[in-house]
Amino acid sequence: MIVHFWGTRGSISNSITAQLIREKLFNALKKSRDFDLDTDDKINLFIDNGLPFSVSGSFGSNTSCMEMRDNKEFVVCDCGTGLRDFGNYITTLAQQGKIEFPKTFHLFVSHLHWDHIQGFPFFVPAHVSENKIKIYGFHPDLEQAFIDQQKVRNFPLSLKDMRGDISFTVLDINKEHMIAGYTVKGMKQNHPGESYGYCFEKDGKKIVYSTDAEHKKDSESEEYSFINFFRNADLLVFDAQYTLLDSIDAKEDWGHSSNMLGVELSVRSNVKRLCLFHNEHTYNDEDLENDKNYDLDVHMAYDGLEIKI
Ligand SMILES: [Zn+2]
Ligand SMILES: [Zn+2]
Repeated sequence: MIVHFWGTRGSISNSITAQLIREKLFNALKKSRDFDLDTDDKINLFIDNGLPFSVSGSFGSNTSCMEMRDNKEFVVCDCGTGLRDFGNYITTLAQQGKIEFPKTFHLFVSHLHWDHIQGFPFFVPAHVSENKIKIYGFHPDLEQAFIDQQKVRNFPLSLKDMRGDISFTVLDINKEHMIAGYTVKGMKQNHPGESYGYCFEKDGKKIVYSTDAEHKKDSESEEYSFINFFRNADLLVFDAQYTLLDSIDAKEDWGHSSNMLGVELSVRSNVKRLCLFHNEHTYNDEDLENDKNYDLDVHMAYDGLEIKI
């Protein structure tokens, strides 16, 4: 299975300006001075091996959207602006005849903050009649939040005018659910307006999607409920919006966690791979690149990252 990240920024999307591109170009050209780059292959090799990712790429712009791809069903966590790119990718495949509409899409929503639902009006498959769009969440007002987002004052097209077959299911937090071949469990998280983590299990693999969650002092306890929720996960996608200092100082009680806490909880839960997610929108590519040096299989999320499970 492949986990593909379509949107990884926290709170608001982060634009790449002309000035930022210029700085990357300048740094890349400066580093290229000592290299012989007279063929296309040598240039590609230099980009791959001679440049840090913060220069050759970017941690990206879109807000939360993660796809779990196993070539059977389309399963996605959160509908941030990354959902638009996912929808465009799928629509291109349909236009090229590589897949056929109608299809079923399962969208799991962690919570109803803008950065987790804002991509939905731009999700092209939801505008195609007969496509089934099944939206799941734990908030009782899940459907209402999507309706409100597309009220005429907020958006020109109402939810009911989208042509896809869109349905909403409020999940019971006390139950396990079988959806799209996964056993799905939820976990209530500490976040303004409440958010929910998801645990997906299938074919002996476990993926935990746990964004927009602040872990407080009680996380030090051996009995901390998230240790069990994360335990033995093949991949934990963790809200690492802040540095440790920011998370316990300036941004305490803002509802997010840090990279360091992600590593600590992962080690205590015997997690195999950790993906640091929901990156702070004010941190630049160099700041984020410096975040990832740990003695654990740690991936720094970026738009376009793929992790094989
Ligand atoms: Zn968020
Ligand atoms: Zn939030």
